[in-house]
Amino acid sequence: MQTTSPDITGILDAARLIAPHLPPTPMWSYPVLDARLGAEVHVKHENIQPTGAFKVRGGITLLTRMSEAERGRGVLTYSTGNHAQSIAYAARIFGAPCTVVMPENPNPAKVAAVEALGAAVELKGATVVEAGEYAAALAADRRNRLVSPADEPDLIEGVGTLYLEMFARRPDLDVLFVPVGAGTSAAAACLAARALAPRCRVIAVQSARAPAAHDSWRAGEPVRRPVGTLAEGLATGSAFAVPRAIMRELLDDFMLVSDEEIAAAQRLLLTDAHTLAELAGAAALAALTKRREEFAGARIGVVCSGGNAGPAELQRLLGGGNAA
Ligand SMILES: *Cc1c(COP(=O)(O)O)cnc(C)c1O
Repeated sequence: MQTTSPDITGILDAARLIAPHLPPTPMWSYPVLDARLGAEVHVKHENIQPTGAFKVRGGITLLTRMSEAERGRGVLTYSTGNHAQSIAYAARIFGAPCTVVMPENPNPAKVAAVEALGAAVELKGATVVEAGEYAAALAADRRNRLVSPADEPDLIEGVGTLYLEMFARRPDLDVLFVPVGAGTSAAAACLAARALAPRCRVIAVQSARAPAAHDSWRAGEPVRRPVGTLAEGLATGSAFAVPRAIMRELLDDFMLVSDEEIAAAQRLLLTDAHTLAELAGAAALAALTKRREEFAGARIGVVCSGGNAGPAELQRLLGGGNAA
């Protein structure tokens, strides 16, 4: 495993590495949304990535940097959601064998998505933590490269390319809202902002029903918290060391929103921005909505981080019901 900490040089390198595989995603402002929020809102569309979320930037960076021999031995990771698809997608590009360990009783759509990318799924443990312990033992046994969902500089640098694209288009952003699960994206945003837009404030957001990273940042030490949120991309029960260290040094603010506020923002993206976000993908807009008075008239970046809304979530969204 690479042990150096992620930095802007690595993010620039990652941009070169992913270029053959992923075009830049669009960033748009929408007049109705701007009028509603009284600000200039720039929505970065990671929900239209081929896997439906930004994480694929990190997966491709990580696999590209592995040696041919290491790739040939295969990669193994653990996840319930978008991280699994990212690694499986990247492994398929290189023809590397890929195994994903998921906790028992997974969402069948997520299993199908990973299997459709050619990866093998193994079900083990009641939680992602238990799946991760099993994955570590299995990877050691098989000499697979074990990929952590977040404590991987390559993933953070790869994800950072999203913020290179944002700041290249709008170096004058006043504030950037970033959703947090494991923290790779927010850590990458901090690194890119420091190098390219030092006056831009970076504000991280989590669901109040899965506040481990937020509470760890506030406490200055890692804490575990229960996970009750419906926003799967944000459902992490403990803070990861590498992103936590970066956020601790560079992050300007960290806030919580309710699942109901996230669901309302998901509807705004649908009506005002004509785009489908999964709940996690709407958290950044929910945070801005909550603080719109403070940021009236500002130039604001909002990451729409993913669009993998499952059937139940779509039904709630279109039926206008609450997320709760
Ligand atoms: C993973 C994910 C997040 C959270 O990103 P981290 O890098 O894990 O903090 C947010 N939104 C979506 C759609 C995701 O898949």
